[in-house]
Amino acid sequence: GVRIGVLALQGDVREHRAVLERLGADVTLVRSPAELAAVDGLVMPGGESSTMWRLAKLTGLVTDEPAAVGASSPHGPLPDAVRNGMPVLGTCAGLIMLAATITDAAPGQRGLGLLDVTVHRNAFGSQLDSFETDLLMPAVDDEPVRVAFIRAPIVEAAGEDVEVLGKLPDGRIVAVQQGHVIGCSFHPELTGNDGLHRYFLDAVRGTAGAARVA
Ligand code: GLN
Repeated sequence: GVRIGVLALQGDVREHRAVLERLGADVTLVRSPAELAAVDGLVMPGGESSTMWRLAKLTGLVTDEPAAVGASSPHGPLPDAVRNGMPVLGTCAGLIMLAATITDAAPGQRGLGLLDVTVHRNAFGSQLDSFETDLLMPAVDDEPVRVAFIRAPIVEAAGEDVEVLGKLPDGRIVAVQQGHVIGCSFHPELTGNDGLHRYFLDAVRGTAGAARVA
């Protein structure tokens, strides 16, 4: 099967692993550059993005640039692998990690600059902190996909190379794709609908063959 890493620094790693294994993927938990090197695609789970960011630097998966070159995006094995074509699915905190701009980042927190979007963390008011909904994502699934929002971010702006995969009825953007980089505000792994994971695995199968002919 296709080899999928789940970034396992923090967050709901186990739930993503269960969905991916149900769909036939070989799952590796990724906590180091060596583990990352063994996978064809990566899922970045929900959790808490500023903690995930700190742990990504501690493990050497991400190297923050010194302030002098602060205008460029962070580097390191994880962002470099994605820039070199490794498909990635970032959900909730994972989407925040992928973003070019985080409007209300925690001190020291930066986005990896792998998705040309601006995200706003914890964008839903307290009453709507957490909710489930049926989301139409025509590119992903013919059926509405049941998903959970948990202290979710919103995509406030998306560059012209970014395709919107899903919006709430009020028009707010909650799922996006830029080539092999997919991000969503919500948790698709908690509600028993595998549509977005299937879509991601198809993207990985599309690129993995070329890289793995040997
Ligand atoms: N609020 C979290 C953050 O800022 C994201 C929540 C989630 O991943 N469910 O990272």
